[in-house]
Amino acid sequence: EDIITARGLAKSYGKKEVVRPLDFSVKKGEILAIIGPSGAGKSTLMRMLDTIEPASKGELIIFGEPVTKRSMHALRGRMGMLFQKTVLFDRTVAENVELGLSYRNLPKKERMERVSAILESMGLSRFAERGGHSLSGGEGQRISFARVLVTRPEILFLDEPTANLDPVSTQVLEELILHENRVNKTTIIINTHDQAQGQRLADRVAVMIDGAFAQIGPVDEVFYQP
Ligand code: ADP
Ligand code: ADP
Repeated sequence: EDIITARGLAKSYGKKEVVRPLDFSVKKGEILAIIGPSGAGKSTLMRMLDTIEPASKGELIIFGEPVTKRSMHALRGRMGMLFQKTVLFDRTVAENVELGLSYRNLPKKERMERVSAILESMGLSRFAERGGHSLSGGEGQRISFARVLVTRPEILFLDEPTANLDPVSTQVLEELILHENRVNKTTIIINTHDQAQGQRLADRVAVMIDGAFAQIGPVDEVFYQP
């Protein structure tokens, strides 16, 4: 079952087509890694899929619904995005995670319960009352991830999520990513310039070069070595 379908999806800035017309789909529950050098168009594509960035051309269908000005707000509410750069506010970790729910119109009690539950399931409860600014880079990125997961996204976009992390923090975050996929069947699209990370995490890989997919397929086919 396809959860995302793109047909001729493209983006230009001025005269420059930074994402060339792409045709592809993503299945519910799969992990797709988009790998490629800096400037290839990975972030731009991800922002289009998250509906933050309007496409210049083509068609995008998410959860079976065409993305339009009218539908995009509701669709976006079912998706979440984690960025390379961790943004934590000068409040407690629990409050930082609760911010993920600020537009959700949930009673305070339920928000608190969801925050506790997500921190617990990610093994982060001990940080709940710490100040957001007192954490290491790796801890901070895990809290940012908690702030996304607390919204229970059906599609998760990860834009170079470990680019600023040390190897140990990278491994911990990768385990949390796989756990989210296995336990909640969350569909995940991850941008990375790290081919090995794509191999570790993904079911399928798209190699993006100069705005186009040079290859897309199962990990063992794309990385086949004779
Ligand atoms: P990647 O994520 O693969 O590093 P990006 O999607 O960030 O690539 O960028 C692809 C190209 O689009 C780059 O040449 C970049 O400079 C350009 N670009 C990205 N955003 C904008 C923008 N808002 N306006 C103009 N050019 C942009
Ligand atoms: P509501 O529950 O009121 O429909 P949403 O959960 O859709 O609210 O989110 C409200 C605002 O939060 C959106 O207008 C958007 O600016 C931001 N937002 C929510 N999800 C995302 C996302 N996946 N990517 C970027 N911004 C988002």
